[in-house]
Amino acid sequence: PRLKIAFIGLGAMGLPMAGHLIGPGREVAGFDLSDEAKRRFSEAGGTSCADIAAAVWNADVIITMLPNGKIVREALLGGENWRSLKQGALVIDMSSSAPGDTRRLSEQLQSKGIRLVDAPVSGGTRRAISGTLAVMVGGEARDVDEAEPLLRMLGANIFRTGAVGSGHAMKAINNYVSGAGVVATIEGVLLGKEFGLEPTVVVDILNASSGKSNTSEIKMKQFILSGTFNSGFALGLMAKDIGIANGLASELGLNFENLIHIAGVWERAANDLGSGVDHTEIVKYLAGHRQD
Ligand code: NAD
Repeated sequence: PRLKIAFIGLGAMGLPMAGHLIGPGREVAGFDLSDEAKRRFSEAGGTSCADIAAAVWNADVIITMLPNGKIVREALLGGENWRSLKQGALVIDMSSSAPGDTRRLSEQLQSKGIRLVDAPVSGGTRRAISGTLAVMVGGEARDVDEAEPLLRMLGANIFRTGAVGSGHAMKAINNYVSGAGVVATIEGVLLGKEFGLEPTVVVDILNASSGKSNTSEIKMKQFILSGTFNSGFALGLMAKDIGIANGLASELGLNFENLIHIAGVWERAANDLGSGVDHTEIVKYLAGHRQD
């Protein structure tokens, strides 16, 4: 019997990810609010559906790749959608959702006979396209076992993080560290430039030194100094992720000054520049900061 997969959210990440799942023995039904996204999914060989209910109807596995956990919840349980979910189906939320929302959603789904694992990813659109994402999976071992063959089609490294919600906690932690690195690296380059150092030279030296990071190695030249700002990851999504990490820390009674500060920087940048711009455009927000 063919495995029926529903893929909800065919955006920058979801579209290439869903594409990797299309193949012998698997039927992939997709849905997105955007007609353009659905058109591209159909072109890639998927079956685009008119609404979520149609996509999830009779699906064995439902994968969500949506902006946040509130939207995931609405997609699965909003309106009459939940009536179309098949008993025993497995939901894999690959969005970067908040762990608390995920735990609540998992409980609500459980009461309807539906299982959930959280399996957020890192690596950006480049590694979504190449099928080499890092995947961090939280959930019951039996459910994770079931999800794993599909996750292997999308990712190079599949990490088991523990109970439901733990993948999402790990993802928020990663994006805090990554987002703090973006800000620090951009400020370092701007500071060097102000002093009279050549920005590309600053980046080269960081890359050969202890200041090296994903931002210095990839983002700085490819998206920021080039002025292309086309990393495919929106500023508002990064602000959301660091906000999740900040919320987690506060729930756990931690008072981490840098985390609180960095969450604020990304939030103010999103308010200033708009949440839809590329996250690398934060350079425009940071460059505007000068003493009067
Ligand atoms: P995106 O905005 O490109 O895609 C989200 C898609 O969801 C859009 O096509 C949108 O139309 C659709 N959508 C929104 N609400 C919907 C609804 N109610 N029903 C159906 N479709 C709906 O975002 P993305 O970059 O693909 O990110 C998706 C998730 O992955 C986010 O949680 C993000 O934080 C995370 N993520 C993104 C990246 C990246 O580099 N872009 C990397 C890792 C994780």
